[in-house]
Amino acid sequence: MAREAFDAAVVGGGPVGGCCALALAAAGMRVALVGPRPAGPPAALAAGDAGYDLRVLALTRASERILARLGLWGEIAAGRHGRFRAMRVWDAASPAAVRFDADEVGEPALGWTVEQRCIVEALWRRLEAEAESGALALVPARVESLEPGSADDARLGLDGGGMLRARLVVAADGADSRVRELAGIAVRGGPYEQRAVVATLACERPHRLTAWQRFLPDGPIALLPLDDLHRVSIVWSTTPAHADALLEMEPEAFAGAVTEAAEARLGAMTLEGPRAAYALRHQHAAAYVEGRVALVGDAAHVIHPLAGQGFNLGLLDAAALAECAAAAWRAHGDPGAAAALARYQRWRRGENLAMGLLMEAFRSGFGARALPVRAARALVFAVADRCAPLRRALVRRAMGLEGDLPDLARVRCVEAAP
Ligand SMILES: Cc1cc2nc3c(=O)[nH]c(=O)nc-3n(C[C@H](O)[C@H](O)[C@H](O)COP(=O)(O)OP(=O)(O)OC[C@H]3O[C@@H](n4cnc5c(N)ncnc54)[C@H](O)[C@@H]3O)c2cc1C
Repeated sequence: MAREAFDAAVVGGGPVGGCCALALAAAGMRVALVGPRPAGPPAALAAGDAGYDLRVLALTRASERILARLGLWGEIAAGRHGRFRAMRVWDAASPAAVRFDADEVGEPALGWTVEQRCIVEALWRRLEAEAESGALALVPARVESLEPGSADDARLGLDGGGMLRARLVVAADGADSRVRELAGIAVRGGPYEQRAVVATLACERPHRLTAWQRFLPDGPIALLPLDDLHRVSIVWSTTPAHADALLEMEPEAFAGAVTEAAEARLGAMTLEGPRAAYALRHQHAAAYVEGRVALVGDAAHVIHPLAGQGFNLGLLDAAALAECAAAAWRAHGDPGAAAALARYQRWRRGENLAMGLLMEAFRSGFGARALPVRAARALVFAVADRCAPLRRALVRRAMGLEGDLPDLARVRCVEAAP
């Protein structure tokens, strides 16, 4: 692999990087995907009683479309996945509540719930098939250095001593991106004093294809519906001390705590399998591009999981970058041209910043115990609950049916989910 030259090198084989590599290759570019195949979750985490992955992602309709256009949705939808037709959000500290419904916007679903490993497996099967047919190159190495090459490319140094050249370098190497650091791009933000506890639970009452989220003083608890009407995947964001306590509880006590936190809306809950916790942080790159490098996914932004948007935003980044790069490549053969990357940055940075700020406002607004803040949030809920046009606009935006979407997210596809 020494000194091979590519139109684009995508660093990071996670869900965002893999999809970005497929989108760039589909446009006809010579693409290398650099990075190890992501390991599955540890066996202990992978094999709960029901065998669900503890990492379940809520996907928007925009993500469904992008995954379909990349040829992945058919396999994902044929496997185990859930869907939600409604979303109920309510506040523990006031009577405030709001309900969003797919019927209101004339859609069959607000979104889908898919185990992360199902996405990664479908993605890597496709990447390997594409590599087999010569449409892209898989380079199972880690990037260790980045240097400007000649005037029109950049050079990536790999562990093991290899090197490759590319006109566009995509940093999709996650929240602690090495490529971002090598490109000298700073990040703003930091850790939240919160951890997210994840687990799979059986529920006494059916979830009714509804995603449930209750805002508690220490953070929100979300119950995501799985394929089985009596199973949910939870994400409970709370203080580190409380997260530790939740992980250490006996299974019955933990299930009792979840039942109580969800106000028993789904009846009594029973823990199925293991639990895990993730430290939460928020961060945003000061720039999305530098020279021939462009950041996508968690390398560019990490937001609170309360709205389940991190991967969805990363997929939109990947689709938007591929669109800008492909247009430049078709026009003059250079997908990493400064004008193309500047267009990408203008397009995605503002959108992601706005979403990050909104999540921050939700998180801090719901964490506040002061009476005026509680009154204000009750008012916001009441307005959203009573004002159908506002609710519809919010829903269409959150589903990715509106906004400045890349082409891959716009086109309705024949491969739609069952
Ligand atoms: C509790 C929780 C719940 C969440 N729920 C949702 C949800 O419901 N919906 C949603 O949309 N998002 C959700 N998210 C966010 C989502 O998980 C992430 O945004 C997404 O997984 C990021 O994908 P990525 O490909 O950008 O990064 P990663 O998955 O981190 O992938 C980065 C890849 O880069 C590779 N890499 C790293 N360094 C190098 C190097 N030097 N060279 C080569 N390769 C390298 C790594 O091996 C890895 O494979 C959630 C997050 C959390 C914590």
